[in-house]
Amino acid sequence: MSLITGTTKLLGVIGDPVKHSLSPLMHNRAIEELGLDYVYIPLPVTQENLAKAMAGFEAISLVGFNITIPHKQAIIPYLAEITPTAQMVGAVNTVWRTNTGWKGTNTDVEGFIAPLQTLSRDWSKITPVILGNGGAARAVVTGLVELGCPQIYVVGRDRHKLNEFSQSWQNSPNISSILQTHLWSELIHLIPSTQLLVNTTPVGMSPQIENSPVDASLMQQLPSEAIAYDLIYTPNPTQFLKLAKAQGAMAIDGLEMLVQQGASALQIWLQQPVPIDKMRESLRAYLKL
Ligand code: NAP
Repeated sequence: MSLITGTTKLLGVIGDPVKHSLSPLMHNRAIEELGLDYVYIPLPVTQENLAKAMAGFEAISLVGFNITIPHKQAIIPYLAEITPTAQMVGAVNTVWRTNTGWKGTNTDVEGFIAPLQTLSRDWSKITPVILGNGGAARAVVTGLVELGCPQIYVVGRDRHKLNEFSQSWQNSPNISSILQTHLWSELIHLIPSTQLLVNTTPVGMSPQIENSPVDASLMQQLPSEAIAYDLIYTPNPTQFLKLAKAQGAMAIDGLEMLVQQGASALQIWLQQPVPIDKMRESLRAYLKL
């Protein structure tokens, strides 16, 4: 990394916790490759300190930052403007300065669809099944609508939370009209005909690395021409993707989403193309992939 001085411009990621974030690694690798006087740092900020942190960012002229759990929604009242994409998702993961104040967007949407856009599929004929109804599922739904999927099934374990999820899209009729929610017990009827199965739950991550959100016998119903997409990037592959591959299905892990959402954010801050290959390589080397 080049020398950090008083002129070095600051970027970062705020969250609680942020100590395991891989964003500093990939962003600083890209900055080094571009030879720019910037540094990207992890900024641990608790929920109760968000207002103070925002005032501090103003004071130290932070150029921009990423936002992770638990601030992706809580940050919105501090921003002068958010993009239509962030509005639709209801969450912001990237913030930058404008003449009128901070502006926010959600690059998880672009990050999620990037690996799908490299495939030649007719998305208007594909009805995806999304496992989980948390924050990441919101970016996934928005991305799948952008791709042109005609109907989207979201599967969760709590009817009350599923209803809230459905209701939260009421102001986006293009989404609410094509979204159906289902309980986990209904998966048995959805898996045999799905062409895209997306895991947005943390099942399969440490400490649950032996687990799959869909059990082995049900995964045997997955069509061999289907795509299984796990947002988890470590372990790689997850148990879910191993079971999908055993069926002959195509497996996509969460690493490319992580890289692409980061590249989109860095491009916004630097206003120039960024070396995505170096960002990807740095993560693959760190994760020993
Ligand atoms: P979140 O808001 O906490 O949502 C998690 C969802 O998973 C909730 O709907 C939760 O259900 C469900 N869930 C949790 N444990 C479950 C279980 N045992 N069985 C069934 N459902 C379960 O988390 P998030 O922000 O959406 O993140 C989810 C995952 O996506 C994480 O693994 C995260 O690392 C990954 N992610 C990856 C990227 C990337 O760039 N690759 C980006 C964002 C997120 P309840 O609501 O019923 O609790």
